[in-house]
Amino acid sequence: MPSLRQIIKDASGENVNLCQSCLDCDIISADEIDVPLGSLVQMILFNDEEALTSKTLWSEAVLAESRYACRKGINLEAVLLALREEAKRRKV
Ligand code: SF4
Repeated sequence: MPSLRQIIKDASGENVNLCQSCLDCDIISADEIDVPLGSLVQMILFNDEEALTSKTLWSEAVLAESRYACRKGINLEAVLLALREEAKRRKV
């Protein structure tokens, strides 16, 4: 099975490998999240499938602010939407 980062690349064109782990995107907060967005990105990089069931992934508040949250230019909105589709595909 391809890695989460490859699945995201294929689905959205976004390259999570460009992440420099600065965690600037952690600034997005919402009551319902369980891990900060930057930590979710690190989970993707480590192919940690718990990213698929994270409450953060399904937070509409996080999604709404994610498009320009990455200073390295990764479209995190597209990343989250691609990851949601993969979670639905796996029925997790
Ligand atoms: S802001 Fe971008 S580069 Fe920094 S941790 Fe978040 S995704 Fe990675």
